[in-house]
Amino acid sequence: MPGREDVNTGVLKGGEMVNIVAVTEASEWVDESWSTRASREDMLSDFAGWHPDLAELFANVEEVYNWGLFDRDPMGSWTKGAVTLLGDACHPMLPFLSQGAAMAIEDGYILGEALGLYPDNLTEALAAYEAERRPRTSKVQLEARERGRTYHLPTEEEMAARDAEYARRAKEDPRTTGINTDWVYDYDPRRFSARMREAAE
Ligand SMILES: Cc1cc2nc3c(=O)[nH]c(=O)nc-3n(C[C@H](O)[C@H](O)[C@H](O)COP(=O)(O)OP(=O)(O)OC[C@H]3O[C@@H](n4cnc5c(N)ncnc54)[C@H](O)[C@@H]3O)c2cc1C
Repeated sequence: MPGREDVNTGVLKGGEMVNIVAVTEASEWVDESWSTRASREDMLSDFAGWHPDLAELFANVEEVYNWGLFDRDPMGSWTKGAVTLLGDACHPMLPFLSQGAAMAIEDGYILGEALGLYPDNLTEALAAYEAERRPRTSKVQLEARERGRTYHLPTEEEMAARDAEYARRAKEDPRTTGINTDWVYDYDPRRFSARMREAAE
């Protein structure tokens, strides 16, 4: 499991390119941009002591960008009159649960269904959409934050305790790595309209 840093790589363009997401924590940096240039040297020094393969990969990178990860507390409402929000605009989340785009897609689906359920009443449609989506996305947002915290624990002792607990849980349920995310995937947006119709009967 990761410590204060973690690294994900993805091969792009049929193996021509490698995209590296290398996460490290900083308390002082607040620039909300994804185009701030950074240096290969900084990247190498942040990950000093990691496996030599990783050092070799980093030594060959051509472009490095600093990209801050920011999140927000769940919002109290998304809708004002005939305008509502979806996706990162209303529930930006840290990427540690890999759900930001998934939530935006679910939002879009439910919004379409809600508009179909109340074709002549936009207020009802947007209220139904928000009532369905805000609790779920708020939970996912907070869980992603919690995952970020447990991924980047500050001391070796805390990391060892976390890993032991995850190993214990994985033994109990071999399908998981110790982190149970069934509740994320159990949600089925296709049930929304039927549920709403049943509730109205
Ligand atoms: C490192 C990282 C890893 C991630 N991994 C995952 C993952 O594995 N799985 C997952 O589900 N999600 C992941 N996400 C999250 C995902 O990328 C976002 O949640 C998702 O892109 C949000 O979609 P969106 O349509 O709400 O917003 P965006 O994708 O931000 O789209 C908004 C669009 O609006 C445009 N725009 C902004 N202002 C204006 C304007 N004034 N006029 C016109 N256009 C405008 C922007 O240019 C942009 O194209 C990850 C995010 C990060 C940072």
